[in-house]
Amino acid sequence: MPWRVTLSFDNGPDPEITPQVLDILARRAILTTFFVVGDKLRDPERYAIVERAFREGHWIGNHTFNHLAPLGVTLDVDAPALEIGRTQELIGEMSHPDRLFRPFGSGGILDEALLSATAVDLLCRDGYTCVLWNVVPRDWENPKGWVPRALEQCAAEEWPLVVLHDLPTTAMEQLELFLDGLEAAGATIVQHFPEDCVPIVNGGIVADMSAYMPS
Ligand SMILES: [Zn+2]
Repeated sequence: MPWRVTLSFDNGPDPEITPQVLDILARRAILTTFFVVGDKLRDPERYAIVERAFREGHWIGNHTFNHLAPLGVTLDVDAPALEIGRTQELIGEMSHPDRLFRPFGSGGILDEALLSATAVDLLCRDGYTCVLWNVVPRDWENPKGWVPRALEQCAAEEWPLVVLHDLPTTAMEQLELFLDGLEAAGATIVQHFPEDCVPIVNGGIVADMSAYMPS
């Protein structure tokens, strides 16, 4: 079995950075998932970039509408419908058939603040697939130097699912260096997700959710 690595890009689309990322991925024939922020899709220029990603074979996932507070923290009972439902409407036919949703985790942390009971109910009712992660090299924090940390974190995982950000932090200037490093380490980059990062599949809970919800 080759060493599989899955890549994902969150918080876009960005009018400048996302096309650069798409160019790099196309040149290397790498397919990934873009978890997009709903509010940004209201801008036609950014929407067109997601259309390009979709056309080029990337999967488009839902990464909330406002991306402001983890769903387990907000007190607004309408938050799941807005954050998840409205974004899904904007993604429309570009959605992956499994309706991929990635919650906003403050600082990349997977904890009890991640989801709420209402959010989980909505994800189940409407047949979503919840995609978490196991590698967050915090590219936003160290845009020039995140690659060694990312490669180290990947090496520790049997099947890394990496979160990067197609945002104007300059971090994506290092994307090729990261991809070179993965290649040198013998990685096969695949588009699908490691099972243990996907606690809800097509609306069915397949993992213990208690770690991701306030008790
Ligand atoms: Zn995010």
